[in-house]
Amino acid sequence: MNLAPNRLGQPAASAEAILEALFHPTGVDGVYGRSGAYEAVVEGLATLINRARDPRAEIVRFPPVVSRALIEKSGYLKSFPHLLGCVCALGGGDAAIGAAVERFETGGPWTDGLEASDLVLAPAACYPVYPLAARRGPIPRDGLIFDVASDCFRREPSRDLDRLQSFRMREFVFIGAPEAATDFRDTWKARAGDFAASLGLSSRIDPASDPFFGRGGAMVGRFQVEQALKFELMVPVRSAETPTACMSFNCHRDHFGQTWGLTSDDGATAHTACVAFGIDRLAAALFAAHGVDSDRWPTSVRAALNL
Ligand code: ATP
Ligand code: ZN
Repeated sequence: MNLAPNRLGQPAASAEAILEALFHPTGVDGVYGRSGAYEAVVEGLATLINRARDPRAEIVRFPPVVSRALIEKSGYLKSFPHLLGCVCALGGGDAAIGAAVERFETGGPWTDGLEASDLVLAPAACYPVYPLAARRGPIPRDGLIFDVASDCFRREPSRDLDRLQSFRMREFVFIGAPEAATDFRDTWKARAGDFAASLGLSSRIDPASDPFFGRGGAMVGRFQVEQALKFELMVPVRSAETPTACMSFNCHRDHFGQTWGLTSDDGATAHTACVAFGIDRLAAALFAAHGVDSDRWPTSVRAALNL
């Protein structure tokens, strides 16, 4: 169900009201503590998404950090270096670590003692699943489906409720034959409007591109749109005029297949696709649509979320 752009509903609650009622500031833009009422909605979304999961899906939950080597090999560093957050730690042995702390104690700089570690912050939930699948050998004829999730980080500080630095992502990932990967993506793209409607959310599907770095990146983004590789479910969070991407539907073609050597029984490189639920954006969209007090939401929405 694709609603026309002018059918998107105006939010009942402003972003400011939602931030005030449901989030705890931490002093850092885009990083918030979350209230119990907000987390109840996040849990409700998780249950609803569980119910929509393909019974064949294998569930894997990843930590909020991934290996730096994985992110380098995946092409993330080349495509999105501006969004990547890296884990650093004080190095150089006890003396150097002690000296760094001392510099801090005396009002000096201590961060020059930091060294890059072998970890980066997970920028999306699905990256670690491709090498995991590749290690198991050839992909079965019907393909593989995974249900993955992680806390994600992207270095895009903003005061906007819908652009966080630390947020949660859930994804269904398909690995298999090219047509099956496109079908998987398209099935979810077709279902998403009803999923939103079951939550009382107005939405539409837009073609989209990833925020690739630099001028060369803009070209890759245009190619992505031309080739219809990415679509997003747009739902009002801040306003109906500038709706927010709350889910994305992505075909990666053979990018991850080539990178990780994912092959089918007959030796063909596997294609991959993923559908991502931006959990914090979906939760924010719900509060925007129905108001900051979830006790007063429509009965059908409360029932859908087990509230
Ligand atoms: P955008 O273009 O809005 O930055 P994206 O194309 O980078 O999004 P994806 O990489 O497809 O997003 O990520 C999957 C989903 O994760 C998005 O559809 C969105 O719901 C959520 N998401 C992405 N970035 C953020 C963020 N900074 N804050 C909150 N949720 C986010
Ligand atoms: Zn993905």
